[in-house]
Amino acid sequence: MSHEFTFQRQYRGALQAVLLDWAGTTMDYGCYAPAVVFREVFKRQGIEISIEEAREPMGAHKKVHIRQITKIPAVARRWHETLGRPCGEADVETMFTDFIPLQLACLAEYADLIPGTLETVAAFRKRGLQIGSTTGYTGEMMAILQEEARKRGYQPDSTVCATDVPAGRPAPWMCLANAQNLGVFPMESIVKIGDTLPDIGEGLNAGMWTIGLAKTGNEIGLNEAEIDALPPDDYDRLIDRAYLRMNQAGAHYVVDGIADVLPCLDAIESRLARGEKP
Ligand SMILES: [Mg+2]
Repeated sequence: MSHEFTFQRQYRGALQAVLLDWAGTTMDYGCYAPAVVFREVFKRQGIEISIEEAREPMGAHKKVHIRQITKIPAVARRWHETLGRPCGEADVETMFTDFIPLQLACLAEYADLIPGTLETVAAFRKRGLQIGSTTGYTGEMMAILQEEARKRGYQPDSTVCATDVPAGRPAPWMCLANAQNLGVFPMESIVKIGDTLPDIGEGLNAGMWTIGLAKTGNEIGLNEAEIDALPPDDYDRLIDRAYLRMNQAGAHYVVDGIADVLPCLDAIESRLARGEKP
């Protein structure tokens, strides 16, 4: 009989760390900084793209993001109509080369913290959680953002960029590198929090609990004042769509913004205490 039963090890301890995204999660309400620059680099090639097209692959490594925009059927069609040839890898390289200085030049303009960030980070610390971070920005871009964040009182313990690992989101490598930097395991003792579908993908792929932020980031893609000015019906439609998309991506929890995540941590710790895994 004995070979018919097995025992499974369960982590029943507390949460040890959170991994936060940057734009749309802790700063840059509406995730505007990359979106405006993606439109500009396509414009320099003679191609107009909509803000929705610019935002669609958000969360990925920025060069991967440019390549993914070129593969949106409507963009590919306009490219071919305008330039008489398909967009190739050399065009992606050219646009990424244009992207870097344009993004560096305007990052600091979009560096204000999202309301509730400092209070929530303080609450994380009070719970004994370490704070890591992941981003689709390059190391050079992050150097600027980290300095702007520090001036505003936010300093995570670890930051890993898409350019530090073999592949950015949705691959899990940035999350695993953070775990290593922080000296934290198992992965089910860590929670990933972010505003895009690739954020949710990287958290799940790393075996972590994952929380999506529907209101403050790329899914709605508007800043706080713009959201406040929306007619209620429009807001309801946009926020419902964001919650649905993030839930369908597999997020364990979806909330409006970082200010709303603390109750989710309580719920996750109850689930861990019962022996549940992400
Ligand atoms: Mg983001």
